[in-house]
Amino acid sequence: MLHVVGAGLAGLAASVAASRAGWPVTLHEATDHAGGRCRSFYDPTLDLVIDNGTHLVMDVNRAAIDFARAVGGLPMMDQGQPKFPFVNVSTGHAWTLSPWALMRRPLDLLRAVGAFGLDERTTVTQSLGRTKSFSTIWDPLCVAALNTHCDEASAPLFAQLLRMALKRGLSSLNPWIFPAGLSAAFVEPALSTLRSRSVEIHFNHRLRSMENNALIFDDRRIELGPDDRVVLAVPPWAAKDLFPSLPDLATRSIVNGHFRLDSPPTLPGEMPWLGLTGGVGQWVSARGCLLSVTVSAAEDVVTQDSAAIANSLWRELAPLLKLSPDQTPPHRIIKEKRATLAHTPVQVGLRPDALTPHPNMILAGDWIKSPWPCTIEAAIISGLSAARQALGAPALTF
Ligand SMILES: Cc1cc2nc3c(=O)[nH]c(=O)nc-3n(C[C@H](O)[C@H](O)[C@H](O)COP(=O)(O)OP(=O)(O)OC[C@H]3O[C@@H](n4cnc5c(N)ncnc54)[C@H](O)[C@@H]3O)c2cc1C
Repeated sequence: MLHVVGAGLAGLAASVAASRAGWPVTLHEATDHAGGRCRSFYDPTLDLVIDNGTHLVMDVNRAAIDFARAVGGLPMMDQGQPKFPFVNVSTGHAWTLSPWALMRRPLDLLRAVGAFGLDERTTVTQSLGRTKSFSTIWDPLCVAALNTHCDEASAPLFAQLLRMALKRGLSSLNPWIFPAGLSAAFVEPALSTLRSRSVEIHFNHRLRSMENNALIFDDRRIELGPDDRVVLAVPPWAAKDLFPSLPDLATRSIVNGHFRLDSPPTLPGEMPWLGLTGGVGQWVSARGCLLSVTVSAAEDVVTQDSAAIANSLWRELAPLLKLSPDQTPPHRIIKEKRATLAHTPVQVGLRPDALTPHPNMILAGDWIKSPWPCTIEAAIISGLSAARQALGAPALTF
């Protein structure tokens, strides 16, 4: 039996891969829902299904796309054009970011991909300098990709991400979006797939502690037999409670403001997304009457009162939509205080590998050592790889 603890994307990926190979799998999740930091839910104030936070997947994220395809979620995703309109909300300056815009600044691009060498401790600001394109290209790209401000983000990690994308060609920067929400693409089809394979799924089942040969939950103790394996796909703070020798990893927050408008908006640039600089919000996405704004690396914002956040985000958005800044529409603010790791040089160096002191238990999750920052891609790759290691089956796939 494979016990998978945590039904985020890493745990779902491990469970789907192992069950496909015919392994009996039991999935244990602490909360009453799957998806972890990447999920949708019905919000009664807005009377809409919303995501905990807008997520963007690019075509370079092959594991995420393969996983969605394998579980039948790909038809719930749409591929968009690699065209990202931006507006500076303070000055009104507007521009469009595209892969070709990157190519037009070859020296900056070479610096960004680390072509002149990068020390492990270098930050993105140190590697790029505050050049003309810093505030229009690199700063918004870095904070969106690493959820960490350029002044503290790891330049080698950012460089690696750009190299992985460019190596696959410009189309790898085509974005994928989720018109029916994240859960419709990743979570619900994964749960259906697991149920069709008779995987037992236990919600409200928090793992409290472990012994060499036992998993201890609130209401039961599961003895592990010699052939049993465990994939522990919980976030870093939960894993640290179980294995105190793991490093203390710093995190960064993301705040999302969801607004329900009277009619579907048209954003400047006429794409379903818009990048913002010069204010609080950084990305806007539109889905029907739902307008969602993301604030990444939001340590200054997350501590504020939700009504104040909603009003300040709306005051930035309203002029772009030609609506009244004084009438904030019905809204929901979601604060994810520990959305991802802080991708600083120190924290990146602390990401542990998947092994634990118990030979039958393997760690998984976006925070495990990876060429990817903490993303859907990192979570899914790590879940698959943990299942492969736990079961000694290197060819396992979704
Ligand atoms: C607001 C926001 C925006 C984001 N935007 C993007 C984006 O645009 N693109 C992108 O690729 N990524 C994005 N991410 C990151 C992405 O969501 C995560 O990297 C990914 O979901 C992590 O998956 P995971 O399975 O590793 O961890 P988690 O999703 O944290 O899953 C861990 C699961 O373990 C459960 N658990 C915890 N403790 C226990 C226990 N003791 N017993 C049993 N279960 C337990 C939790 O309840 C949870 O369900 C974003 C994240 C947030 C929060």
